[in-house]
Amino acid sequence: MRGCRHTWKNACRSSRASNGNVAEMEAVIKSAASLQPALNAPAKNWDLWIDGRETPALLGTRLTAIDPARNQPLGEFAAAAPEDVDLAVAAARRALEDSAWSRCGARERGRILRRMADALDQHRDELAELETRNSGKPIFESRQIDLPLAAAVFDYYAGWADKRAGSVEPVAGPHFTYTLPQPVGVVGAITPWNFPLLLAAWKIAPALACGCTVVLKPAEQTPLTALRLAALAQAAGLPGGVLNVVPGIGEIAGAALARHPGVDKIAFTGSTAVGRLVMREAAATGKRVSLELGGKSPNLVFADADLDAAARGAHNAIFYGQGEVCAAGSRLLVERSREAELVDRLAERARRLAPGDPLHPKTRLGALVSPAQRDRVLSYIATGRQEGARLVCGGAAATVAGLEQGLFVQPTIFDQVRPHMRIAREEIFGPVLAVIGFENEAEAVQLANASEYGLAAGVWTRDLGRAHRVARALKAGTVWVNTYNQYDPAAPFGGFKASGFGRELGRQALDLYTETKCVWVNLEG
Ligand code: NAD
Repeated sequence: MRGCRHTWKNACRSSRASNGNVAEMEAVIKSAASLQPALNAPAKNWDLWIDGRETPALLGTRLTAIDPARNQPLGEFAAAAPEDVDLAVAAARRALEDSAWSRCGARERGRILRRMADALDQHRDELAELETRNSGKPIFESRQIDLPLAAAVFDYYAGWADKRAGSVEPVAGPHFTYTLPQPVGVVGAITPWNFPLLLAAWKIAPALACGCTVVLKPAEQTPLTALRLAALAQAAGLPGGVLNVVPGIGEIAGAALARHPGVDKIAFTGSTAVGRLVMREAAATGKRVSLELGGKSPNLVFADADLDAAARGAHNAIFYGQGEVCAAGSRLLVERSREAELVDRLAERARRLAPGDPLHPKTRLGALVSPAQRDRVLSYIATGRQEGARLVCGGAAATVAGLEQGLFVQPTIFDQVRPHMRIAREEIFGPVLAVIGFENEAEAVQLANASEYGLAAGVWTRDLGRAHRVARALKAGTVWVNTYNQYDPAAPFGGFKASGFGRELGRQALDLYTETKCVWVNLEG
């Protein structure tokens, strides 16, 4: 046990708890958003998933996942210690080096990925319900968006598995020189709580298509669907050890993965602050790193836009997923001549968007994921008021009949927002929109780019030249023109500036999981 404590201590030392001991470790666990050490009798117990089987945590630590719509325990899950991460990485290494997986060939990998897509389709209702219960997002979204998209991602990369070819290079001299794409190795994937299954799929599917093996550390708030995915993958024919899932506290299990010498690459999605920590940890062993981080995405509406479409688009851009979406259109930049009209239409829509039971099929605004997240959003709303923005609608916690303990917040709109205000600059990650006026195209682009982030942006105009001009000028990894929040497995997604680097999805994601080997053959020998 002393040895175990020592390792926990190292994990704590790496970040918030500076001179860790078991008491400090417990403090880290208690302060983690939405989590309490398991106290109540949960509906189900979940273990880690290592080497193709359910595996209890070595230290026996368990945490409670909550149902945010009821703010009640949903289940208990094992929380990985660094020793558990060691086991998972060792299993992934064995599977990479010498296993049915390493020998099966690219075409068979593709077949397995396609069966994983089928499994997601077949278990769509069950997984969607589990996702909604654990995250608070409407069942409409889990069932109609997250699950079909996750299945489509596996299907898309199934197609790529046997189509990654090397090339022959025209070098000088008597040589035959060619490249071989090879798996980068053991991938450590760390994911956030807002799209638990979908963002896991964004990493796992291309990694497996390239022949890598994976250790996934899902967010401590929402680990359940990733654990279920691992079991379904096994049933679909994925050999043991190829996909391991180790839920746990970020500062303990996540940090252990980021600095693990047996991990070749870290694929991280989460906040910018934690992304930078992860990069620092990974640097010690020179791992490859890709980061998908936060955003404060601008949505630009020009006076010539179809205002009905723009109002619908701006509403969905901020309120889809309760605004807990990295690419949420949280800054609405509007040409002044149409600002009042657009704000009226948005307010009218927002007032009709009542939060409801996430399990009800008609609900379009669910619960926020945790008490900490709800409090953070409410505190930003208070900040907006103090800063002098005008509250147009919302502005408070919401109560849903029958779910009085639920973590709901009213859809909230501020206008007369100034660019220097915190609500215009910082990621709130909730249903809060900041509206800022602009006079002309140059000012719109300048305001849009005046952000540390650069994840996504929207442009609403009927002027074709302007649409392309502004799309080119915006510093963002994705620009949507006369639409918002479109995602497809074939379309690369990722950030400029503090929103990260590397592109997930599309053929670009394959590069994250590939090493290129160059082979020279002397033709004169
Ligand atoms: P977070 O950064 O707190 O946590 C993300 C993951 O990192 C979790 O699994 C967490 O346990 C882990 N983690 C925490 N501390 C760690 C540490 N010291 N070392 C290693 N891992 C650690 O983010 P969150 O609150 O779960 O998610 C919200 C954030 O994610 C927002 O900023 C949002 O913009 C971002 N996000 C970005 C994208 C994108 O594609 N760019 C997508 C979704 C969410």
